[in-house]
Amino acid sequence: MKFGGTSVADQAAIERLIALVRAERQAEGQREGGDARGPVVVVSALSGVTDRLLGVAAQAGAGDVEGARTSLQELRKRHITVSEVITDAALREPVVAALNREFDELERVVHALAVLQEVSPRWLDTLAASGEILSSQIVAAALTSHKLLGSWVDARKAIVTDSEHTAAAPLFQETTAALMAHADPPLAAGRIPVIGGFVGASAGGVTTTLGRGGSDFSAAIIGACLGASEIQIWTDVDGMLTADPRIVKSPQVVPHLSFAEASELAYFGAKVLHPATIQPAVARNIPVRILNSHRAQARGTLITGQRPPTERPLTAVASKKGVTVVDITSTRMLMAHGFLRRLFEVFERFKTSVDVVTTSEVSVSVTVDDPRRLPAIIEALSGFAEVAREEAMAIVCVVGDGLQRDPALAAGVLASVGDVPLRMLSQAASRRNITFVIRESDLPAALGRIHDKFFSEVIA
Ligand code: ADP
Ligand code: ASP
Ligand code: MG
Repeated sequence: MKFGGTSVADQAAIERLIALVRAERQAEGQREGGDARGPVVVVSALSGVTDRLLGVAAQAGAGDVEGARTSLQELRKRHITVSEVITDAALREPVVAALNREFDELERVVHALAVLQEVSPRWLDTLAASGEILSSQIVAAALTSHKLLGSWVDARKAIVTDSEHTAAAPLFQETTAALMAHADPPLAAGRIPVIGGFVGASAGGVTTTLGRGGSDFSAAIIGACLGASEIQIWTDVDGMLTADPRIVKSPQVVPHLSFAEASELAYFGAKVLHPATIQPAVARNIPVRILNSHRAQARGTLITGQRPPTERPLTAVASKKGVTVVDITSTRMLMAHGFLRRLFEVFERFKTSVDVVTTSEVSVSVTVDDPRRLPAIIEALSGFAEVAREEAMAIVCVVGDGLQRDPALAAGVLASVGDVPLRMLSQAASRRNITFVIRESDLPAALGRIHDKFFSEVIA
C-alpha cells in the first residue's frame, strides 16, 4: 500500500492511512487462502516537503544560509506537530529525537553547501531523501500506537540502486536480497513494514533517489521483489482519469486498464502514476490498483495484463507540458545510412531520453522533456547538422483500443482538435495510441475538445 504526499500530509491524513491499513489487514485475514501477512506500507514525504527540501538546497547553493535555515525550521516544526499522531508518548519520544537529529544534520549540510556554493546531485539526493526518511518513521510509530505494529524499514538499506543520482535505477537482485533481510523478518513476525518511497542507496551505501514522483516506483519494486498479491497506489483522486483534472473539467475514472495502456499514459504525463511503476508489476504479473485515500469507497482503477474489452473507442488522454522540440536538419546526410545512429548517439552520450520522434526527408524532430543537457547536445549535433529548438511545447497522447479497430478514429481525433496547429504527429506500431505535439498554450483547448467529443458520456 503506497500513500502519496497528500495521503500523509497531516495528522488527519495519517489517521485515514491507519484506518485503511487496518481494513486491508482485516480483509486479508478473512479472505479465503488469504495471506495474513502484511501489508507493506510505502510512504511519500509529507505533501510539499520534497519541493521545500530542494528549495533549501538551492538556497544553500546560492549562499542564502538564513533562508535555508528558516525553511528547515518550518519543516522541523511541521514534522514535530504531525508526529502528534503517535498517541503513545513512549513511542513518540524516540521519533521526535530522530527528527531533531535529522534536522540538526540537515543544518550542518546547509552550512557546508553554502561554503562550497554548489550542490552536486549527490547532495541533492541526501537532502531530498530526508522527506521520506522522516515521514516513514512517523507513520511506522503511528501504526504501532494505534495497535497495528508498524516496523520502520530504512529505505537506504532496503532499496539498492545504481549511482545515477536524482534518477537512480534499482538493482533488482540486490534489492530482493536486501528486502528479504530487512522487510521480510518483520512481515514474518506479523508486523507491518513501513518504508519511505523514492529513496535508495548505492551498493556503497550512498543515498540516492529514484526521480520525482518515484514513490510509486518504490512500491512496485517492493511489491515485485516480495511477491505481493497486489500493489495499491493511494492518492488524492479516484483513479486514473480520462484526462488531467488540472486541465480538463470533470474527467471520469477509467475502471480498468491494461499494463500497456497504463504505461503509455504514465509515460506521456498522467502524473498519478510514475512512468516506471508498471515495469516491475508486469515482470511478476501483479495487479496495480489506484485508489483515493480520501474516498476509500470509490472503486478506483485496476491495472492488469489484459482488461475486458469495452465499447469505448478511446481509453484516456495524457499530456505533458514543458517539452522542448529539437529539429535537426541536414540536407546532405539524412538519407545516408548511419545518420540516425550518429544523431541518437549524441542523446545517449548526454543521457537524455527523447519521447516523440518524427522524420521527413531532410529533418528529424525529437522532443525532450529534461532540458538540462540540451546546450551540450545542441553543440554536439551542430557538428554535423543544423539544429533549432522550440520550448514551451506539450505532448498529447491519446490511448485506446478503438484506434486499432477503427481506421477512421485517428482522423476523428485530429479533426476534433480543430484549428490548433500540430507541430509533430506520430502513431506507434501498436496503433494503440496517437501522439502529437502542440504549443503548451494550446493544451487546454486541445484537451477540452478531445474530451468533449470522446469522453462526455458516462462510463458504465
Ligand atoms: P501522490 O502525491 O499521491 O503521488 P501525485 O500528485 O503524484 O499524487 O498524482 C496525483 C495527481 O495526478 C492528481 O491529483 C492529478 O492532479 C494528477 N493527474 C494528472 N493526470 C491524471 C490522470 N490522467 N488521472 C488522474 N490524475 C492525474
Ligand atoms: N516525494 C517525492 C516527490 O515529491 C516522491 C513521491 O512523492 O513520489 O517527488
Ligand atoms: Mg506521485
